[in-house]
Amino acid sequence: MLKQMVLCGKYVSGLIKGGLMPVPKRRHSHSRKNKRRSQFKLNPLNYIECPKCHTPKLPHRVCPNCGNYKDVLVVPPKEEKEKT
Ligand SMILES: [Zn+2]
Repeated sequence: MLKQMVLCGKYVSGLIKGGLMPVPKRRHSHSRKNKRRSQFKLNPLNYIECPKCHTPKLPHRVCPNCGNYKDVLVVPPKEEKEKT
């Protein structure tokens, strides 16, 4: 197969292990690139209220304040006396 591709002149630098890579026919303009990228954006984080301590937290996460998840204590809160 490799021999055939060399013979018919289709052997290019984009060849990777047994096949030709698809190569774009034309370059995209700056305008087209910028129009596509104008839709790239981050969504705002969706905070919910912890049912236990009523502080804002991310959904489906253990509460960083009280360590509860679905009213079950998963991570016991650290005692502040140990730090000093
Ligand atoms: Zn909480």
